[in-house]
Amino acid sequence: MLRSAGDVWACALEVNAWRRGYPLEQVRSVTLLCEGGRLFLDVTAEIPVTVYPPGEGPHPGRVAGVDVGIIHPYAVAGPDTKALLVSGRAIRAEHRMHLADTKARRRAVARRAPKPGQRGSRRWRKYRARARQVQGRHQRRVRQAQHEAARTVVTWAVGQRVGVLHVGDPRGVLQVPAGRRHNLRLRQWQIGRLLQVLIDKATLAGITVHLVDERGTSSTCPACRRRVSKPRGRTLTCPHCRFSGHRDLVAAATIATRTPGGGPTTPTPVVLPGVVTHRRAGRHLPGAGRSRRDPRRPPPGGARIKMAGCGPPHHPVGSRSPRTVRIHNTTETR
Ligand SMILES: [Zn+2]
Repeated sequence: MLRSAGDVWACALEVNAWRRGYPLEQVRSVTLLCEGGRLFLDVTAEIPVTVYPPGEGPHPGRVAGVDVGIIHPYAVAGPDTKALLVSGRAIRAEHRMHLADTKARRRAVARRAPKPGQRGSRRWRKYRARARQVQGRHQRRVRQAQHEAARTVVTWAVGQRVGVLHVGDPRGVLQVPAGRRHNLRLRQWQIGRLLQVLIDKATLAGITVHLVDERGTSSTCPACRRRVSKPRGRTLTCPHCRFSGHRDLVAAATIATRTPGGGPTTPTPVVLPGVVTHRRAGRHLPGAGRSRRDPRRPPPGGARIKMAGCGPPHHPVGSRSPRTVRIHNTTETR
């Protein structure tokens, strides 16, 4: 029998802890979150660091460098010339499609928007609720993909017995305004969260993480250490010594040689990656080989797609609504 808010709270806490498999005495904090009009319980629990059988755990002498980026959220260069590239193209596509979708929804309802001080209609309230729901789903999709990417890195590092991760921290340069397009890219990148989830998961797996200065790592030739202008594509080619390699992996290999705390670069030679493992972040995302259409909706052949409120979650960027196409056809036949 629940009598007070405190009772409800304790009950919710117990249910949540039980569903996640944490004993109650391990729970450290519980936060009630409101996201997209839905309530969530955020439970923080104390979990012991993973213990490995002797001779199989991460070795403190084995260092890997991690370069965080937009196209590749994590590029890792490990020992024995092994490397890992995690592709974030599906995350980027999710951001782009969400933005295009939101813009289309706004355009469709703009004339119904209540003026300041005016009460909105029921249709307007429904539109607002739907917009919040879509926004919440978008945020959950991106967060899931980021966690998957970090999990991939940590699993790979444990497999390589990497004991120390040197992670390049680019946050120093993010305060500089870079124009509206690049500012948007940087905002969608969510670098703080990418670093935090990686640090959390690595620490739990018994791997030490050091943040290092990453300045110049993607514009310095690892072979002759001279400055190279930033490449347009993914391949860095040195005009001085004709060295050529993957831009993010070269940066990661250089980051692995940096000393934490911003000290001078150690004269350790850069070990360039040879064997590269490719992984993709966000297999659940609509762009990652799955249909972009909401499977619960009927096929668009019969009924006209409504842009506002209840259309499919994402229209491919650059596509036209059926109405625009029809108008286009009539002008052609005239
Ligand atoms: Zn060079």
